[in-house]
Amino acid sequence: IMVGVVREAAPGERRVALTPTDVKRVATRTRVLVEQGAGESAGYSDAHYVEAGARIVDAAQIRTQADLLLAVRPPAQPQVLRRSSALISLGGRDAAITEALAARGVLHLGLERIPRTTRAQSMDVLSSQASISGYASVIEGARLLDVLLPMLTTAAGIVRPAKMIALGAGVAGLQAIATARRLGAVVHGFDVREAAREQVESLGARFVFPEVEVSAEGNGGYAAAQSDAQQEQLRRALAAHVAQMQLVISSAQIPGKRAPILIDKQTVHGMAPGSVIVDLAAESGGNSSLTRADEIVEENGVRIYGPTNLPSLMATDASRLFGANVRALLEHLIDADGRLHLDPADDITGALLAGQAATPTFPLAA
Ligand code: NAD
Repeated sequence: IMVGVVREAAPGERRVALTPTDVKRVATRTRVLVEQGAGESAGYSDAHYVEAGARIVDAAQIRTQADLLLAVRPPAQPQVLRRSSALISLGGRDAAITEALAARGVLHLGLERIPRTTRAQSMDVLSSQASISGYASVIEGARLLDVLLPMLTTAAGIVRPAKMIALGAGVAGLQAIATARRLGAVVHGFDVREAAREQVESLGARFVFPEVEVSAEGNGGYAAAQSDAQQEQLRRALAAHVAQMQLVISSAQIPGKRAPILIDKQTVHGMAPGSVIVDLAAESGGNSSLTRADEIVEENGVRIYGPTNLPSLMATDASRLFGANVRALLEHLIDADGRLHLDPADDITGALLAGQAATPTFPLAA
């Protein structure tokens, strides 16, 4: 089988799906093509890939020669791909993408479909990229704030530390808490899952208890969706806590659904001017009703920023982790003799194939 690393075409996407370190590992079992300049914006040159054992080809060659394409994002136009090839990329939660690829005869192995199990942990791009988002959200938030995060004792007086809260304490929220704490903020966390409380507290943050009933645990360790009435109660209860904070990092999500709105206009009006909300749920609608994807909205002196691709800002390390995840998946799917095995009975492969038959035209699926 021939594996191909695609150069990302989406605007602002600087990551690459496989780094030279991964290529070196993968090249022991299969041949690897890399599209010219694929790693450039992430800090990995063509020369590095060649050294690692890859062959550099142009955009047309990679699509005609590679059987299994690796990308961070699926291409906007599936028709550029070769029939009977397969693609490993994000986009696995968007049925329209997988369907469009299937219509082109391309088998899509969407990375979000990898189960959140211990066995699949090394392949979990959602976790690795969410960690980077959580870290970057605090850095971005600190930049937008008019106050300092740490306490500063100077001859000119004392600066008091800022207060930060993470709404949603999953992978991204916990990393935001850890980062804000390292920067010296007084940190708080909230999540509807009871399990998150201990994790928040173990990072030295205070867990906030709004006095409301919430439905907590859903499927697969994810949170359950709240009813409209519960959401409104939760918003009002959280508003009192949020009003005390200078920095809010929100990352509450329910897979496959619109993100819950935890902050409305009324909450924002209760916050001090100069405060900042970084909304990591912007791509799925936002945790604030004012969030606009990739924009900074100002309301009553409060800045609300909804970045949708923070990992791309830190493309070198984001790609290092993304690539390690993809490499682990390749090692799961490709045997030592370079043959691809797509066994629907395997829990990881089965989840990747869910909803689509390994296309009969895909020659390597047999
Ligand atoms: P996610 O991105 O789906 O959601 C982020 C957080 O938002 C979650 O903690 C969720 O509970 C929370 N949330 C949802 N609705 C909320 C609301 N109304 N108010 C406040 N918070 C709300 O989640 P994630 O970060 O991808 O992780 C989800 C779960 O999966 C966690 O329990 C995590 O520990 C677990 N996980 C397990 C593994 C593994 O075992 N391999 C790997 C990664 C994550």
